[in-house]
Amino acid sequence: MKTLIQGGTLVTMDSERRTFRGDLLIDGRYIKKIAKKIDPIKENVKKIISAENKFVIPGLIQAHTHLVQTLFRGYADDLPLLEWLKKKIWPMEFHHNKKSIRASAKISLLEMQLLGTTSILDMATVHLTNEVLEEVEHSNMRYWGGKCLMDYPNSSGPLYEPTGEALKETEELITEWHQKTDLINYAICPRFAVACTDELLRASSDLQKQYNVFLHTHASESLEEIEVVRKRTGFGNIDYLDHLGLLNSKSVIIHGVHMTDDELMKMIANQTPLVHCPSSNLKLASGVAPIEMYLEKGLKVGLGADGAPCNNTMDPFMEMRLAALIQKPLFGPEALPAEKAFEMATLGGAKVLCEEDRLGSLEEGKLADIVTVDREHPSVATVENPYSALVYSCSGRDVNDVFINGKLIVRNKKHKLYDRDEVIAESKKQLKRVLSKI
Ligand SMILES: [Zn+2]
Repeated sequence: MKTLIQGGTLVTMDSERRTFRGDLLIDGRYIKKIAKKIDPIKENVKKIISAENKFVIPGLIQAHTHLVQTLFRGYADDLPLLEWLKKKIWPMEFHHNKKSIRASAKISLLEMQLLGTTSILDMATVHLTNEVLEEVEHSNMRYWGGKCLMDYPNSSGPLYEPTGEALKETEELITEWHQKTDLINYAICPRFAVACTDELLRASSDLQKQYNVFLHTHASESLEEIEVVRKRTGFGNIDYLDHLGLLNSKSVIIHGVHMTDDELMKMIANQTPLVHCPSSNLKLASGVAPIEMYLEKGLKVGLGADGAPCNNTMDPFMEMRLAALIQKPLFGPEALPAEKAFEMATLGGAKVLCEEDRLGSLEEGKLADIVTVDREHPSVATVENPYSALVYSCSGRDVNDVFINGKLIVRNKKHKLYDRDEVIAESKKQLKRVLSKI
């Protein structure tokens, strides 16, 4: 089945960073051809999608999110990190049942795909991970993620789980879900050092090596969190993870707002990627990660919205814009230009997930994760530079079509798998039940 995306402005992110008006041919799961003009008859094309007056971009990669938290958007505003977790997020996650966790995953996936996200690295909660993964499978999202691990008594709130049980379920989930489909990859998810014992972190690292999967954890997000880790272990947060042998190219560190020079060098030496979540860092007043400096030193950096209650949108365009803007007061107006911010959400995310050979740019032979973006709105219609338009002027609501793995998931701003009204009605109903428990 061949589909032709015709007459758009292609923003390829290839090695020459070519942008030009042209056509893109999808054959099955892959990008077969990119050229100024492709003849649909000669190529035996079955479907043509006009991209007239649209940008055609690589699918956006959000390398950190929490599908299970989306239901709680707007119910945990204006708090610092540890209070936000203990008073709001953990009790709400704890009161999820099968129906509410499913509703949360569903509305997140619907929102993220409508806004142009094609790949996510996700952290579920301690319980009911199967429900999340089943919904992910249904959604056709390209996914890395797994069950959240929290085994430190008195620092895990109601989500505490004995070490052995946490590890046993993780291993069962890896066996059942890792690479179950083309799109699903398991990731081991110790929440953060505050809520995890040495034993759990070491065992997570062993499991990671045994199954060759990703590991995904928050670290060095707020000064208060770092202080808790230092008091307990005598180490800085990243140093502690290094001490336990957790830093490697498949261990994704989320936030890293406050790292020492020595910790930064350890991350780089171990090729350990970082995911930057600018909205979350600002809303929880955690601080501003010096991403311009990190990139200059050679750290791999991707972007993520984090959970909906600390953002409160899952729009990757918002994250790109904010990522660029907040570096400028620190490093000057030239810091993190639009093209670099766009790179973080595309190729940067692909590098975080060790998928740069298959994802992150529009190139022949790569997987067909592709998004078209309207350039008709008065806020963007006169802007010629595609990076400036996409990062500073567009929002996810300009996204028109979304392909994941060659499959058309969103067409003309309408999701093809989910009934939007039904998803919203079910979310409202489930939210009401969870809120009644707190
Ligand atoms: Zn997070």
